[in-house]
Amino acid sequence: MAIRRICKYGEKILEKKTRKVNQKELKKDLPDLLKDMFETLDAVGGVGLAANQIGLDLCLAVIKIKKEDEEALRIVLVNPELAEKSGSMTEEEGCLSFPGLFARVKRFSKVKVRALNEKGLPIEINAEGLFSKALQHELDHLEGVVFIDRLPFLTRMKLKPLLIKLKRQWRKMDESKMKEI
Ligand SMILES: [Zn+2]
Repeated sequence: MAIRRICKYGEKILEKKTRKVNQKELKKDLPDLLKDMFETLDAVGGVGLAANQIGLDLCLAVIKIKKEDEEALRIVLVNPELAEKSGSMTEEEGCLSFPGLFARVKRFSKVKVRALNEKGLPIEINAEGLFSKALQHELDHLEGVVFIDRLPFLTRMKLKPLLIKLKRQWRKMDESKMKEI
């Protein structure tokens, strides 16, 4: 198992729609890759991670949701699709590809997502609140959309100086050199 380096904003792979995962890939490479993705998520303390955030062109993401006192729920999303959506909410969001940047993003409050799980079996997830936000954030990544793309133009402009400053720091960051926990 290994912690992977996380791609930062500005790296082209984050802007590209990912390729669908096929059953063969699922059987062969997925178990090890998923271990790495969850380990990376644990190491950096994130909620979700999409495969293209670690440099892989695959329609695959993982989410770790923790309710108080309960053990964290670890969800694998292979080729996920947004099946239903309703309501709206605007909450603060961050992203592992934008360390140090947070912004309030408008999202659907409730979603239904269909995907395959790690065994290749179809799953359906109904989510609201934080879980709904995390799902939409990861599904966006797989389409090549990052959270700042969802912000109004003026807000994006206001964030620009901070982004330029943060980008300089990101160049020195490599999560794969973090110690395992
Ligand atoms: Zn993200």
